[in-house]
Amino acid sequence: MTDLTNLLDLDPAQLVAYCGELGEKPFRAKQLQRWIHQFGASDFDAMSDLAKSLREKLKTRAFIASPAIISDHTSTDGTRKWLIDVGQGNAVETVFIPEENRGTLCISTQAGCAVNCRFCSTGKQGFNRNLSVAEIIGQLWMAEFALRQTKGIEPGPKGERQITNVVMMGMGEPLLNYEPTVTALKLMLDDNAYGLSRRRVTLSTSGVVPMIDKLGHDCPVALAVSLHASNDALRDGLVPLNKKYPLVELMAACKRYLEFAPRDFVTFEYCMLDGVNDTDQCARELIALVKHSAHPVNCKFNLIPFNPFPESGLTRSNNIRIKAFAQILVDAGIVTTIRKTRGDDIDAACGQLAGEVQDRTKVQERMKKMAEYQEKYGKDFGRIVEIS
Ligand code: SAH
Ligand code: SF4
Repeated sequence: MTDLTNLLDLDPAQLVAYCGELGEKPFRAKQLQRWIHQFGASDFDAMSDLAKSLREKLKTRAFIASPAIISDHTSTDGTRKWLIDVGQGNAVETVFIPEENRGTLCISTQAGCAVNCRFCSTGKQGFNRNLSVAEIIGQLWMAEFALRQTKGIEPGPKGERQITNVVMMGMGEPLLNYEPTVTALKLMLDDNAYGLSRRRVTLSTSGVVPMIDKLGHDCPVALAVSLHASNDALRDGLVPLNKKYPLVELMAACKRYLEFAPRDFVTFEYCMLDGVNDTDQCARELIALVKHSAHPVNCKFNLIPFNPFPESGLTRSNNIRIKAFAQILVDAGIVTTIRKTRGDDIDAACGQLAGEVQDRTKVQERMKKMAEYQEKYGKDFGRIVEIS
């Protein structure tokens, strides 16, 4: 298999070049791409409008496959979570969140993460490796057609699209795996693949300033920035990358990005940590930062109730505090939302389960560990609770 090309690794231009090498015209690449990304085909024989000779050629040189699935769970609220095997004992998560008028897929870009934010269990696992294009786009490919199959919806452009929005908010820092991430984004946006609008694709970053600029030029999609702190001293301790790219630089980069962005605001994510970053003073500093500093940024805030894990030594702000904090931002005219719980019964919250998964037994061990934690710390352990 190692000499074969996984066609999920190729963006539209690369697929044209690949077909060219096989002596085929560019329109064949478009046909092939539609079979792969719009029909979910992995069998060349099913590609009926391709010449038999081309199909035979492809069979000897290429294949189409996303990584193996370790587990696949659907919550009572419809949230579906896949744990995906990315080899060498590593797993990443993909989560589908259905809502009334849309279906959002949360995808991962790295196994582990080197940024090592204090409140993030992915960071605590350290960095394992970058995911390939096939492993990133393969999450969308696999999920879209698995969801259709479950609902009995036909593949192809006529069948109802299940995934209407993508957020790169799973495991990993997408801007530290830049090229594969951008290639995957291009496929998401391409009309002969998923055809998603830029507004419906969101990349979340901890603030890799030069790469925010690069993304603005290469492939501007909606941007979410994990802020989590209202001043540098606090952010240095929570998001270590802040020491390299402090807030003044981050805000300037956000402002520059808005010149290219498909939306006229940046979403700031803010994880609510009890007694750490949730005081009235912090909220007031945030207002000063985004509205009255050297680089004011048109933004929305998304407050994320901390999803606790014991090694962090941190606890979640209580609901009254979160609402009071939100109110201060709202009163200053900043649109502010509080992230709600989804997938309660399957632990589909931020990166609690995936990590070093040597085999299925290890997954079961972790599941068991999770159940023990829940007994010890309450049923909300590892979840984001809904605040109404
Ligand atoms: N690395 C990127 C994207 C993945 S993390 C980033 O940091 O933006 C997606 C979001 O989940 C980030 O805002 C992150 O800060 C948040 N997050 C991580 N661990 C969390 C936890 N334990 N509880 C709540 N939110 C968490
Ligand atoms: Fe990495 Fe994002 Fe977790 Fe920070 S919050 S460690 S950047 S995945």
